[in-house]
Amino acid sequence: MAQLSDDCFAFGGKLLAVEQAAALIAERVPSPDGSEPVALRAALGRVLAEDLRAPVALPPFFNSAVDGYAFRHADLAPQGETRLRLAGRLQAGAAAAPIAPGTAIRIFTGAPMPDGADTVMMQEDAQEEGGAVILPPGLKRGANCRPAGEDVALGEVALAEGRRLGPAEIGLAAALGCASLNVRRRVRVGVFSTGDELAEPGAQLGGAKTYDSNRFTLMALLAGLPAEAVDLGILPDDRDATARALREAAAAHDLLLTSGGVSTGEADHVKAAIEAGGRLVFWRLAVKPGRPAAMGVIRPEGGSADAGTPVVGLPGNPVAAVVTFLHLARPLVLRLAGATAETLPRFAAEAAFAYRKKAGRREYVRVSLAFGEGLPVARKYPREGAGLLTSLTESDAFAELPEEVTQVAPGDRVRVLPFRAVF
Ligand code: AMP
Ligand code: MG
Repeated sequence: MAQLSDDCFAFGGKLLAVEQAAALIAERVPSPDGSEPVALRAALGRVLAEDLRAPVALPPFFNSAVDGYAFRHADLAPQGETRLRLAGRLQAGAAAAPIAPGTAIRIFTGAPMPDGADTVMMQEDAQEEGGAVILPPGLKRGANCRPAGEDVALGEVALAEGRRLGPAEIGLAAALGCASLNVRRRVRVGVFSTGDELAEPGAQLGGAKTYDSNRFTLMALLAGLPAEAVDLGILPDDRDATARALREAAAAHDLLLTSGGVSTGEADHVKAAIEAGGRLVFWRLAVKPGRPAAMGVIRPEGGSADAGTPVVGLPGNPVAAVVTFLHLARPLVLRLAGATAETLPRFAAEAAFAYRKKAGRREYVRVSLAFGEGLPVARKYPREGAGLLTSLTESDAFAELPEEVTQVAPGDRVRVLPFRAVF
């Protein structure tokens, strides 16, 4: 497993700004080495381990972009119609013969341009008449054709190392003829829940128990990343048991995630367990919801004393767990996966709500978005609890209120983070 040096996060602050946490991750967490080949069909979501240089040009040859008539532009009269004899017909996939001056050929989209031809008139603009085609004036040389390499030149870097492979990237790799790609190993992420009150979905719900939802949310979030989520179950509210479980899991995982038990309550043991099993890097973020989040490095059992596995202690409240996952766990996974850093998507919206907040921390307010003319309108979810799971299922985005802002009035412009685009 990838191990971090013990001082890679050295930081002495108290309440860490979200941007500082992001900078820590970007600066201190090393990118991985090594690669494995993966068939293109199985490459979705993986991270390219090396630049993909185009082994062929794209398109590979000069071809027609439309159904129409190919000819030499020099044969087109600058004013008035031109009549050219039709000397052949060429469909996609057929080999082209050169065309003689003063002639045209019927051509279809994707067919190679015959030698000599340099322009195509769309069939809608031309008229066929007795073995000839009549072309109006005014078309530019090179119109309606696609030169070889106009998309990607031979040998050009089509996709850079670190690129996450989505549908567009996989399509491009296929178009370049690649049946397999060298990608990074998936990041192995162990996911724990913590809390004596938690029950496994499917089990009987006894008194004072509640079903564990965070582990399922977090594993589902990881499924959208170049990660392999490993379900490590529920830990009791016990410092030693938590420290032991973290140390045992550290050797076999690249990253550990916990949720709950990281606040200041007497039953909150994650911070102390991180300190016991390794080193705390920071605790408490200047963010709402999500303030108690912690990050550290766990020394694996039997591992060297100065290397460790990163651990992120996410808060227990489900909305806080999601907010801090997006800001801590997600960039950490991308970094450990060797992926190029990705900022979360955000756009401007108009607030349809009033809100007051404290300066000095960033707040994420759940909103639904209405799209019409002008800016999208952000309506606040009517209730605020960080434990309300329906506030996520019934919202589209977080309005991201910056540290310095203290109030929002209806009509104000706010930045929104459309979490559904990230999930
Ligand atoms: P804690 O920080 O452990 O006190 O947790 C804060 C709140 O989140 C409590 O109401 C917990 O019951 C709840 N919580 C903690 N972990 C989970 C979980 N895995 N799934 C659902 N709720 C949780
Ligand atoms: Mg708890």
